[in-house]
Amino acid sequence: MSFNDEQLRHEKVFRDPIHGTVTVDNQIILDLINSPEFQRLRRVKQLGTTSLVFHGAEHSRFGHCLGVYEITRRLCAQFERNYPSQIDGDGLWDNNERPVALCAALLHDLGHGPYSHTFEHIFKTDHELITRRLITDPSTNVNKILRRVSDEFPAQVASVISHEYPNKQVVSMISSQVDADRMDYLQRDAYYTGTNYGKFDLDRVLRVMQPTKDGIAFKMSGMHAVEDYIISRLQMYLQVYFHPVTRSLEVILDHLLNRAHWMCNHPDQQREAFNPELLMPFFRNKFNLSDYLALDDGTLTTYFTQWKHSRDTILADLAHRFLDRRPLKSAEYDDQTAKLLPELRKLIQASGFNSAYYTATNASYKLPYDTYHPRTAQPQTQIELIQPDGELVELSTVSTLVKSVSGKEAGDQRFFFPKEMLSTSNDLELFAPYYEEFQSHIKNNHVC
Ligand code: ZN
Repeated sequence: MSFNDEQLRHEKVFRDPIHGTVTVDNQIILDLINSPEFQRLRRVKQLGTTSLVFHGAEHSRFGHCLGVYEITRRLCAQFERNYPSQIDGDGLWDNNERPVALCAALLHDLGHGPYSHTFEHIFKTDHELITRRLITDPSTNVNKILRRVSDEFPAQVASVISHEYPNKQVVSMISSQVDADRMDYLQRDAYYTGTNYGKFDLDRVLRVMQPTKDGIAFKMSGMHAVEDYIISRLQMYLQVYFHPVTRSLEVILDHLLNRAHWMCNHPDQQREAFNPELLMPFFRNKFNLSDYLALDDGTLTTYFTQWKHSRDTILADLAHRFLDRRPLKSAEYDDQTAKLLPELRKLIQASGFNSAYYTATNASYKLPYDTYHPRTAQPQTQIELIQPDGELVELSTVSTLVKSVSGKEAGDQRFFFPKEMLSTSNDLELFAPYYEEFQSHIKNNHVC
């Protein structure tokens, strides 16, 4: 497949704080970027509630998608220069795969909604499925643009995203242990959160990547650059992605949408009419692609601003807690202390909080981020190094550094509760006995 006939006479350059420049030399790519479906990604924050903890993290999915495209573009160029295929099946790089790789890289997150993980949890949507539908449905602009390459091209791009594309090198570029997606978001998220953990030598990692028959492997000389990437990734999970306050705000968001959902199913004459138009298709579980595309961070925030004045006290209070950043507190628990949770919930309920909306448990290692597990992963998702004799060896068998962190679950499990439960002031005398008992249970549990 090629899109040579749509080569731009003058390449377009987007400035980017992570990669310096993002270069577009083709009309198809430029038109995809300019499509309404892709432009919507400017209005969806990459890290959702994380910006309420790291205020710099306001960057959008738009910038991330351009970044993944740029890394893929550089990788294709490196492969074409150093490992051009001579005959079919020689395990080297066939540059006819470049268009499908570039389009899949650019579009891989097209179906992300606002506050993606929480939204998916409440409405049972699936961003990957929606991404593939946006690519393959003949009604979308993106689909029309992709069909200029060929009628089969949209389905091919979608099959890279679902890992079904026959060329495993292309699939590995977009989705593997060391892929363009992760390499971009680690650097980008580190930059915008203002942390230093996600930094690693991207140029070096790209240079030591090499196509193989089953995907992509790394030159032995690049082992330390890959180690650095693994450790950066671990640090970002522990320090940024699993931050307890971010998770607390996700809990509030989750419960807020849950309450709104409940209100739609329980109409009440006493209450004002509750009809958030753009969300109704999701509350009714009957939505189409254009309903989905109408949503972004701004749509949700506008509803939350209205809900702050609702006569439903739970909805109003949760909207206030989310918008004005009043996170729940949380304490770590383990198998031993988990026994206390029902008692704690009872005390919270007795203090006047509906425990279904004001408590939660969540385990960070269950969040949709992964750490490196060579034992449990599928063989093709392992990181493999190329030995001098050409044999492949799995990274943790030669790197003591990676061995020491691999296969171990990182993270913790936390119990979330209203900050008021830690109150010591006398003006809440009514609940003081509950608070005291609660606090005597919760102490020594790493409260955040
Ligand atoms: Zn991504």
